[in-house]
Amino acid sequence: MEFFQQKGNNSIFYGKIPYFWKKSRKVNRSILHLDLDTFFVSVERLLDSRLNDRPVLVGGISDRGVVAACSYEARVCGIHSGMPMKMARQLCSEATVIKGDASTYTRYSEMVTDIIRENVPLFEKSSVDEFYADLSGMDRFFGTYRYASELRQKIIRETGLPISFGLSVNKVVSKVATNEAKPNNQRLIDPGMEKGFLAPLSIRKLPMIGDKTYITLRNLGLRYMSNLQEMPGEVLYRVLGRNGLTIRDRANGIDRSPVIPFSERKSISTERTFDRDTIDVQRLRSLLAAMAENLAFQLRRGDKLTACVSVKIRYSDFQTYSKQLKIPYTSADHILIPKVMDLFSQLYNRRMLIRLIGVKFSHLVHGNYQINLFEDTEETIRLYEAMDKIRLRYGDRSITRASAMGVKTIGRMTNPFNGQPPIILAHRKQ
Ligand SMILES: [Mg+2]
Repeated sequence: MEFFQQKGNNSIFYGKIPYFWKKSRKVNRSILHLDLDTFFVSVERLLDSRLNDRPVLVGGISDRGVVAACSYEARVCGIHSGMPMKMARQLCSEATVIKGDASTYTRYSEMVTDIIRENVPLFEKSSVDEFYADLSGMDRFFGTYRYASELRQKIIRETGLPISFGLSVNKVVSKVATNEAKPNNQRLIDPGMEKGFLAPLSIRKLPMIGDKTYITLRNLGLRYMSNLQEMPGEVLYRVLGRNGLTIRDRANGIDRSPVIPFSERKSISTERTFDRDTIDVQRLRSLLAAMAENLAFQLRRGDKLTACVSVKIRYSDFQTYSKQLKIPYTSADHILIPKVMDLFSQLYNRRMLIRLIGVKFSHLVHGNYQINLFEDTEETIRLYEAMDKIRLRYGDRSITRASAMGVKTIGRMTNPFNGQPPIILAHRKQ
């Protein structure tokens, strides 16, 4: 205190806080990334311990099906998710093949979410089996690493599922650390050590480097993160645009993206009020199908899944009714449209003119189409990919299911998810 006072009026106070102090107060964040190990396989092993230590494939069981997840024992045979089941069986004939069950996985996913919610004030559920938590400031009370370790043990104890974590100053480094720690382990990257930790790793391991970017970077002669760290920004900008600069930052362990609080109230919806009230059920059903189809496309475009469908109707006397249904996580319209139709049939019981109808998907989480791979064949997945590609290119309504044909417009059309346009992938390599 004396130190400040002797400066008298020409003090170093800058506003109310000494300016050098302001600088030193820039504390490191403490970001935790948690990821369940081979999630679908682990759940199956909980239900049947004979699957332990064996190669296990989860996915569509027909020859035309696709691998949604596989155990480490299967990965050594060269199998990865997204691969045709037929090929996977050929690569590993002794593997046990299991038809996945999205509702069981959804239940376990929610169990883990509940434990994290009870123990961490700020967390993000980034997919059915992945979470980020901001533990900044908690180190005043307990070490964040100890806190994270105890949380991990608690999840293992209470659910029986193996889970790994990475802890560092940001999301990207923590995610890479988790992947390095796996299976069933944990890794702390101390502040300041980010760059050194990343340097020897393959550029493949950086989140946001997909097949295409990887090939582009390999063609530039880049193989390890250290190569990326040393690469002049201009070169990367020329080749990959702004993405190139983000990739370079990330390879250097720099990432300021925040943990986005998870809320099950997040939803997307669309509704339509008719110019003239209608009782044309055929038309109403077509419109509902079109709405559900469009919302499902919005989900996939935002890499989101829904676990709850609602339908709303308003009669000409302004009485409004709505009904909702909890479902296993999905973004597939061939699953969602029938649910919407069922809800409508249950709701529409007064033979009266209708003034408004609406559809809402809620309980959204980040995640991709992978969770629905169990019932689906490669053809179904390719069909989704192809249809979504056409929509991205020519507009939402450029292609549609026959059930929704004849509907010209359907309410709101903006992308309800902010941020960069996501790439639609039917599956990803784990
Ligand atoms: Mg996982």
